[in-house]
Amino acid sequence: MRSGFAFRITHRDNLARRGELATSRGVIQTPAFMPVGTQGAVKALTHRDLEESGAEIILANTYHLHLRPGEGLIARLGGLHRFIGWRAPILTDSGGYQAFSLGERRVIDEDGISFRSHLDGSAHRFTPERATEIQAALGSDIAMVLDECLAYPATPDATRQSMHRTLRWARRCRDRLVTLCESSAPGGVAVTNPGQAQFGIVQGGIDPALRSESAGATVGIGFEGYAIGGLSVGEPVDVMYEVVGATAPHLPDDRPRYLMGTGTPADLVEAVSRGIDLFDCVLPTRNARNGQLFTGEGRLNIRNARHAEDAGPPDESCTCYTCRHYSRAYLRHLFMAGEITAHTLNTLHNVHFYLDTMRRIREAIVFGTLEKLRVAYHQAFSPRSSDS
Ligand SMILES: [Zn+2]
Repeated sequence: MRSGFAFRITHRDNLARRGELATSRGVIQTPAFMPVGTQGAVKALTHRDLEESGAEIILANTYHLHLRPGEGLIARLGGLHRFIGWRAPILTDSGGYQAFSLGERRVIDEDGISFRSHLDGSAHRFTPERATEIQAALGSDIAMVLDECLAYPATPDATRQSMHRTLRWARRCRDRLVTLCESSAPGGVAVTNPGQAQFGIVQGGIDPALRSESAGATVGIGFEGYAIGGLSVGEPVDVMYEVVGATAPHLPDDRPRYLMGTGTPADLVEAVSRGIDLFDCVLPTRNARNGQLFTGEGRLNIRNARHAEDAGPPDESCTCYTCRHYSRAYLRHLFMAGEITAHTLNTLHNVHFYLDTMRRIREAIVFGTLEKLRVAYHQAFSPRSSDS
């Protein structure tokens, strides 16, 4: 374990865990959701908004920060926390997912991934070592290993080969981090948070045997926490739940488990009930900017004409700033008029809804009532209940 990093489970409800994840920059109550701050900001919100919503950790994207403004500049200005003015914990991804998503703009080989920037076409290369160095310069509290992100569906052979490459890359990432943090002059690489934790990533597609093999070998390398990657990439939702349920038991009980890039409010409750502790997803923020709000009754599309003269709040049971002050009619007007404030008010509500969902989940685990909550969220967020 790296200094200042600790994970403690305080309550259990079947497979679900209520816990506390301690970092040198603060304690995160788990299960937790991380709003996505792609370029060092959660789109449309200020850090003050996030703090008031109760966000205890945010995620930042290494790919975007590497391209602009560059980890060198951020390190010279004291690291990512100081640069963006956020004092609580930050998790950075490895940059791999965005690089893999570039399609024809990228080439993968055993040593790493070469790609062209989506901004100006300039050439870049992420190797396991480089992805680790960039995150060390950013100084996030939790760094992720570089993994190979396979498209869905993939053949069993391709899935197996990719899973083994991810394991080789994970070992290289860990070796590089240990060298960086233990050396006093790590070859010109800036290390702005020597206590940085690093999570390994389990791959293996939708094959339980490959997932189990990947989990065992990743745990063998030894990380502060473990993520389940390669899901929410187009597979049916039941398959995702199955893979999560089959993978989580192969991860150590005393380390945090992070399901990457997931999901809907129902997905969060389903995954927690299978033993997951950490989440991130662009859904609440991206959908807010498209006019879709998550409510206790399901999804609500603020563009819908039936809200035009509705004086009620988006969600009767919500205590967020938006719901306490504004009507559906006003929010619809702002959205239709293209006002920037529409993005802010919608995002405030959705982020509040997600963080409130996590508060309810944590409370339910303490009281042993998670199954009741799971059924309620399942009903509210089934496809039939959406207001499209
Ligand atoms: Zn609200």
